Parts: sequence; C-alpha cells; structure tokens
Amino acid sequence: MTVDAVSQNVPPATVTDPADPAARSDWHALPHEEVAGRLGVTATGLSAGEAQLRLERHGPNALPETPGRHPLLRFLAQFNSALIYFLLAGATAALILGHGVDAGVIIAVVLINALVGFVQEGKAEQALRAIRNMISPHANVLRDSRRISVEARDLVPGDIVLLEAGDRVPADTRLIRARGMLIDEAILTGESVAAAKREEPAPAEAALGDRHSMAFSGTTVAAGQGAGIVVSTGPHTQIGRIGRLIAEVEPLATPLLRQVDAFARRFTWTAIIGALVLFLFAVAARDYGWTDALMAVVALAVGVVPEGLPAVITITLAIGVRRMARRNAVIRRLPAVETLGATSVICSDKTGTLTRNEMTARRLIVPMPAGPAAIEVSGTGYSPEGELSWPRPGAPSEAAQDLLRCGLLCNDAHLHNEAGVWRVEGDPMEGALVSLAVKAGLSPALERGAWARRDEIPFDAAYRFMASLHQGPQGEAVIFVKGAPEEVLALCPAPGEGWNDAIAQAAAEGERVLGFAMKRLAEAPARLGFDDVRQGFVFLGLVGFIDPPRPEAVAAIAECRTAGIGVKMITGDHGATAGAIARQLGLAEEPVVVTGAEVDAASDEDLVGIAARTSVFARTSPENKLRIVRALQSTGAVVAMTGDGVNDAPSLKQADVGIAMGRKGTEAAKQAAEVVLLDDNFASIVAAVKEGRTVYDNIRKMIAWTLPTNGGEVLAVIAAIIVGSIMPMSPAQILWINLILTVTLGLALAFEPTEPGIMDRPPRAAGAALLSRFMLWRVIFVSVLFMLAAFAMFALSMARGQGVEMARTIVVNTIVVMEIFYLFNVRFLHMSSITWRGALGTPAVLLALAAVVAGQFAFTYLPMMQEIFDTRPVAFLDGVMIVGVGVLLMIVLEVEKALLRRLGVFSAEEM
Ligand code: ADP
Ligand code: MG
Repeated sequence: MTVDAVSQNVPPATVTDPADPAARSDWHALPHEEVAGRLGVTATGLSAGEAQLRLERHGPNALPETPGRHPLLRFLAQFNSALIYFLLAGATAALILGHGVDAGVIIAVVLINALVGFVQEGKAEQALRAIRNMISPHANVLRDSRRISVEARDLVPGDIVLLEAGDRVPADTRLIRARGMLIDEAILTGESVAAAKREEPAPAEAALGDRHSMAFSGTTVAAGQGAGIVVSTGPHTQIGRIGRLIAEVEPLATPLLRQVDAFARRFTWTAIIGALVLFLFAVAARDYGWTDALMAVVALAVGVVPEGLPAVITITLAIGVRRMARRNAVIRRLPAVETLGATSVICSDKTGTLTRNEMTARRLIVPMPAGPAAIEVSGTGYSPEGELSWPRPGAPSEAAQDLLRCGLLCNDAHLHNEAGVWRVEGDPMEGALVSLAVKAGLSPALERGAWARRDEIPFDAAYRFMASLHQGPQGEAVIFVKGAPEEVLALCPAPGEGWNDAIAQAAAEGERVLGFAMKRLAEAPARLGFDDVRQGFVFLGLVGFIDPPRPEAVAAIAECRTAGIGVKMITGDHGATAGAIARQLGLAEEPVVVTGAEVDAASDEDLVGIAARTSVFARTSPENKLRIVRALQSTGAVVAMTGDGVNDAPSLKQADVGIAMGRKGTEAAKQAAEVVLLDDNFASIVAAVKEGRTVYDNIRKMIAWTLPTNGGEVLAVIAAIIVGSIMPMSPAQILWINLILTVTLGLALAFEPTEPGIMDRPPRAAGAALLSRFMLWRVIFVSVLFMLAAFAMFALSMARGQGVEMARTIVVNTIVVMEIFYLFNVRFLHMSSITWRGALGTPAVLLALAAVVAGQFAFTYLPMMQEIFDTRPVAFLDGVMIVGVGVLLMIVLEVEKALLRRLGVFSAEEM
C-alpha cells in the first residue's frame, strides 16, 4: 500500500484530532482544502486554547540544540596551548632537578589560569547565548481571526502562517495562497535559484525541490507573499529530519584574538630560544651551577609568557557584547565588536532609524479644475481626531472622496486604541491613511466590507507602489494604486498640470509624499498582475505625511561629527524630503543629495568621489546600496550599513558591519547582518560604536599593562646574569608575581568603563597595529624603570646588611606595588590619571586591588608562605619606602605623558 492509499483510509475522526501529522509526507499532493480539513483548520485560524493543546501534544517548534561541549572537555581545552605546554615542561624540569616548590608554583599558575579561563569562557558563552535569544525569530499567524506575531517555537500543526518577502519560513507549511512567491530553498535542496510557489497540489512523487505547494522550514521567502497551513513542526520538518542542528554557539574568536594568539605563540618561541642562549651564557661565561642556571631561565621564560592574555581578551569582548546588548545592539557575530570600534562611515536608513516612523497625514492635494488644491489636516499621532480644512465647502470633498477611499482600501494597516493611545498594526504610513479617512468621515469597517479586496500587488521598495483589486457595492471592479508620486503619475495619461510643483513644495518641507490613482474595469480579473498596472489610471491626488526626526538621532549625529565618523542617509524616499529631513537632523548645512538614478549612471570610479561628498542618497534601490558600500570601502573606510528588506542582504553582507533592524527588519536581513538593532534607532548604532571603541581601548590597556611586568622581570634577571650578581628574585618568586597579578589586576581592566572623550577622537585606522609606537615605547620605558627599581631596592637592602632573603622579599613587593600604580596610570591612556575618577577606581579594580594586597601580605608575613618562598617579614618603614617607589613611578609616568604630549613626539591618534 502506498502512503497515499493509507492516507485515503484515514478515518474522519482525525479531522479534529491530527494524531500525528508528522507521519504523513504527502501534504504537498493534497488539495489545500483537504489539508485544512484533516488538520481541523478553519478560516479564522486556531483558537488560543487549541493552539496551546496542540503545543503540549506536539512539543515546541524547535530543533534540538547542539549540546554544548562537556565541561570537562572545556576545562581540558584550556591546557591546549603552546604556552601551557611550555609551562608544564618547565614544571617537569624543575621536579627532575629537585625543585619541588618551583614545580608546585608553576603547576599552581597553570591550574589557576585554566580555572579562570574556564569559568570566564563559560560565562561569556552563556551571555552570548542569552543575547542571541533576544532576537529569536517570530512568525505572523492567524489565530482567533486575528493576525498576531508569535515566537516561531510556539507554532503548531494547523496554524495558518502569513509569509512575505524576507521571512524565514518557520515550519513546514502547505501553501493555501501564494502571490508571486519565490522561495530560496538552497539550505534544503542546494538549488541556488529561488523556487516559484503556487497553491495547486504537486504530484505525489515530486522531489523536495519540486513540491511547489509547500514552504519548508528554514528556507527564505525571496519575493511575493502568501499564507499556508503548518503541517509539521520542529524535528518533524524536512530540515529537522536531515538532522541539521540549529546554529551552534560561535567559537569565541575574532581577528584580534587570533592576532594575539599568534603573537603569544611567536613570543613563546622567542622566549625559549632566548632562555637557551642565556642558560649557555650563564654556565659558560659566568660561574652559575647548571641546575641554578636552568631554574633561573625556566622561571624567566615562564615569567615572560603572557599566558593569561587570551582569556582576558575573550572576557573583554564578552563584556563588550553584553554592554552593547544593553544599548539595544545585539551582536550576531563576535568580530563585529571590534569592527564597530573602527567604523568610519555609517550609512543609515531614514524612515524609522533617523526618524520616528510615526506618520501623520498633514495635507491632501486634490485635482481641481484650477489645478492642485491643498487641504490641511489637523490632529496628532494616529488618533483619528482632527479636521480637514475644506477651502470651499462642498466642492473639493467630492474630489477627495476617491483619494481617501483609495488610501483606506489599498492598505493593510489597522488602528487600535490601547488604553487611550492609538497604535498601528502594520505599516505606519498606512496607519496614518486610516486615521485620515476616519477624520474625513469614512468608516474603515464599512468601506472595507463594501469594497471586498480580490487581490493585490504588495508594496516593494524595488517598484515603490502597492496596488489592490476591489469589487464594489454594485459589483463594479476597481484597481487602486498608491506609491511614490512619480511612479503613480506615470500610470496616468492626463494627470493635469502643476503636480510636480506640488510634490516639490511638500517635499521641501520634509513631508513624505504619496501619490494615489484608480482604474475602473468593466469586469474584475481573477488575479492582479503587473500588466494590469501599467496605464489608464486616473490620478486622485497626493497626501503629505510628517515623520519627525528622532531627537536622540540629532545628538548622535553631532557625536559622530566629533568622532570623525561620516554619516550618510540612504533612503527610498524623495530627494527633497530626504534633504529637508537631513537638514533638520543636522547632517549637513546644505546636504548634497544624489538620487539612485544618478548612482546608476555613474561609473564605479566616479562613484567613489560621489559617495565621499554626498550625505543623502534618495530614491535608491538595493543595488545602489551595494555599490555605494563598495565605493566607500575602496577608499579604506570601515562602513556600517543598515538594512531591513530581503533585498538589502547583499549590501549588509558587503558592509564591514551590517546592521539589521530588529523591529521592521525581515528575517533575511537579520540573517545577513552582524548586528541587530532592537529599537531600530540610529542612536543605538552610535552607542555600539562607542562600546566598540571601549573594548579596543581596554584590550590595548591590558597589553600595555601586562607586557612591562614580564619585561621588567626579564630585564632584571638578564642584567643579574650578565653582571654575574646574585639574582634579585628567586625563580619561585618570579612565578608568584606572575600568578598573583594576571588573574587580578589584568582581569580588572576588562571591566573598565568608557574613557571620557572617547568620541572626540577619530576612528582608529583599519589596519592599525595593536601596539602603536607610543605603546611600544611605553612597554620598553616601563620595563626599564621596573628593572632599575628592582636593582636599586636590592642593592640598597644588601648594603644595609639585611641579607639576600629580605632583599628579595623587598624586591618582589616593590614590583607588585609598582604594578598597582602602573595600573592606575594605564587606566587612562588619553588623559591624566591623577583625577578623582582615576583615584577612586571601579569596583573591579578595587576588588582586584584588595586581592593583590591580601596576597602580598600573606606572601610576606604568613609562616607557611615564608617557608615556600623563602621570604622575610618586611619592616613597616621598609614598607613605606616600597609604596614610595610606586608613587614615584606614577609621577614619572605622568610627567612623561605630559612631556611627550608637549613635545608632540607621537601623534594624538597614537597616544
Ligand atoms: P524609506 O527609505 O523611506 O524607508 P521605502 O523604500 O520604504 O523608503 O519607500 C520608498 C517610497 O515608496 C516611499 O517614499 C513611498 O513613496 C513609497 N512607499 C513606501 N511605503 C509604501 C506603501 N506601503 N505603499 C505604497 N507606497 C509606499
Ligand atoms: Mg521603508
């Protein structure tokens, strides 16, 4: 018996009880009415209660998540690095040589480092996962006769889902309506050409790619719109069955992290070779015993390796991601955290991003015998309360009637009054048209009932209009069109004089202008095609809308100016409207406006210059966006670009940082983007850039702080060997310094807040080295200071006859104290550190400080520690002297910072 035959025998009882829809695989071959019957679906959609029952029966519409790595594996992975191998080899050598203490300390360094890495990495991964959940996909469904948005995981078999261009199909769906629907099924079939869909059943034996009546979970609607009945969910879908798991958590890797990893690896090898040379020198040219020499160089090599750096950088990035999420920018790909900080041009949409996307119709312009006549409209927001200023009683109202009806019927929006506030469900501009119609005395319910909609061509930014086919009360058929005025005027053979002036005038005042037209037909066609919307329309007039700029966008644009970040508006709107809004936003005094047609006409070479000097691109197409990004990038700019439509995906991918709108953006745009803006707000982009700069700053600070510790120790040991003096620190003590500092103070820098004035600097160059010349100088200078201080303190103590053990204890304490003071210096790379803010520190800094101080007291005074590290209790006055050295270092570095600035040795960018 074939599957088909089985299905024919399904008893009618299953009509209300879809026992296991997943067991069927021939939904594509059934007429959709039968599918509806079998799944108990009516035209009103499921009820909330039924949906709940089905959800319990079928489980969530989600694929099993990739199990995370086992914690033990994750812990072991911490040891998988060249640095750690090196340390373990050192421990083994120490053990063989009978230096149990040193071996123990090395092991402790390794373990603590691994533990910190393990815990922090776990936290970072968890944070990223939580943030990803903030942008979980939604689906539009029909339930209880209402169109609502639900989380895709709550879909059940029998739900009616509404699909439009840009949506990701949320479950396997039998289409009941498809209008110009093309679906990209590459992830399922590997076919790169989008498949055309229709409602008619497909042959039962059709292969997956030929089931034109189905929309499969995980595929993307490339064009058109439609609706379908969910037939299977979660693991029962086609994609679930091929065992594809949902996107796993991305490995925590960014270009910067890789750069540091590579650096650390190179560093390790240099350290090993250097240590070997030093060892040979110590044994051959100086009178060191070979075991002593070996231990010294092992400790040295261990001390020099910045083993904690990669973990600390990962943590910094994770903190950046979390801070950005708090500012409504959700990072989908980790490298964006870095790239955002280097952004030099932001290309932004206008409507909804720079403006509030809260539209209100301000005026109607209707055709009168004497030419276009304006009718002003009062009222605010979407509230349908307001007046139309009919200039001459009676006359224009008739002319306006068709226009108002067109605006109401060629429209998918609804208005709701929620606790006294009027809200739009659907497109804001369409909502404003509903409000306008009510103000003029039309009833949306009555009109929409009397003029039943038969079909439509949905709005698309590519052709900039929407058309709908209606059957009137007397059975008459009418096509209504609304859209960009130029497009609509082109459909009308005799629109009359004066329209271009009327459009230009309204647009110059910043109004968004829409044109309206209609065509009466003798007979209603079954379907509305593009051929029906070519000519023979009667022009009905214009409506001008206001959409005020977001006040916070004005502030953010001003901030971009001081931060050296260019802002370009790229919009589908009219040039004059866009120019007027740009002026209101402070984008430019006299913004240069270029249209999409001019972009089309320009060669790639010419576009480079045009893109650089233009601040507003109007009436653009998605292809224009792609070329504009490329042109900007060709001059070395790091470009952030916003987008929302399915056609924006290529330019979002091309941009260095693609930013999708969380609210009005399509799933396709979100998939292509690195960042998703939860609030669609331009100011959030700038906030994210600021956080990106902070992350980069903090990583630089961490490196600038870590390297001199290692450098100072190394120089001290090398110098001791060269002059043949006693070592100012024992190997175990060097390891102690390493241990106590990396996991405390180094980590604290990851939590540094944004430095004041961070948006007063130009963006960093895209390929800039992590260590600028200034930082390199800093590392060397501070290393030398550390070495000099260590030697001076050692010599002083020895001269006072305190003995080697006491002298070494003092040296270790001096180095740690200097590190503490140096940390306060590094916290502000761009300003003086001697401020209240600098002295107070952050909770993280203070906590780390407390830990280090406690550690040093234990190291110096605890008998057990004195035993292990061979330390002696330091007298109070010696302690004061040690702190004095730290203060001295602080003063020297402040003077140095001021002096270098005065002398202009390094450019402002480098410092
Ligand atoms: P924007 O960059 O302002 O978001 P769009 O690409 O959304 O621009 O729209 C471009 C033009 O298309 C608008 O200026 C308007 O004339 C027209 N338009 C926008 N939305 C609709 C709609 N829902 N129906 C008809 N025309 C529309
Ligand atoms: Mg738009």
